[in-house]
Amino acid sequence: MPGPEHVILVTGASRGIGAATARAFATLPRTALALLSRDKAGLERTAADCRSAGAAADVFPCDLTDWSAVTSTVAAVRERFGLPTVVVNNAGVFAPGGVSETSPEHFRDQVGANLFTAYHVTHALLPAMIERGSGHFFFMGSVASLKGYPRGAAYCAAKHGLLGLARALREETRDRGLRVTTLLAGATWTDSWAGVDLPETRFMPAEDVGAAARDAYLMSDRTVIEEILLRPQQGDV
Ligand code: NAP
Repeated sequence: MPGPEHVILVTGASRGIGAATARAFATLPRTALALLSRDKAGLERTAADCRSAGAAADVFPCDLTDWSAVTSTVAAVRERFGLPTVVVNNAGVFAPGGVSETSPEHFRDQVGANLFTAYHVTHALLPAMIERGSGHFFFMGSVASLKGYPRGAAYCAAKHGLLGLARALREETRDRGLRVTTLLAGATWTDSWAGVDLPETRFMPAEDVGAAARDAYLMSDRTVIEEILLRPQQGDV
């Protein structure tokens, strides 16, 4: 029995855009998904969806802000499925706040969840992927990677930082066979928007963001889509 052709590691796969991205990749033949986040029950739900689509899937509960937990989790993923062909750095959290009311703890938490998580996973996998000479890193940026939003100080800082990390990685790996794509998503209908007084139709479906990543991966390896800017049809909310 041949091993999987596509080994897709998705962070923040317990719900929202990460879960939708896992489901999008699960439609590819001979695919295995390694699903990471803290909530095991949520990961199990996503894994069940992926298996229904015909993929192999396993869950790896982990707090990705914890470097030592990331190193052991990445080792477990490699043991189970081998070195990933795709890494989707999606984990993140939005918590509002302007600069004045953002406490040092809030700022550290936002940068931890939105930037350190991606740095940790990338740092843990990059040497082996460079040595193999192939692989595709995705980063879940935001329109807040490009623009400052009032009451989004820590989140904008973290998402601008994430885009900087992805751009640096792209330059560093362009002649090593690796691809790097940043998704710059506008408002997408997930739990992040719970309680907002707007209809779901005003937001992008998470499935569209997941499909954009999968379709960018399917390009010939002579092409990389470096950045994808997606917005709701009617613009920012
Ligand atoms: P969500 O529904 O709140 O899901 C966030 C995911 O990140 C969850 O699976 C969560 O898993 C995981 N996560 C958070 N902190 C983590 C940690 N320390 N360790 C491991 N996993 C962690 O959010 P979403 O709306 O789908 O957003 C997903 C990504 O897209 C985020 O990076 C967000 O900034 C970005 N984004 C969202 C929008 C939007 O409008 N929704 C727009 C642009 C960009 P656990 O709780 O299980 O750990």
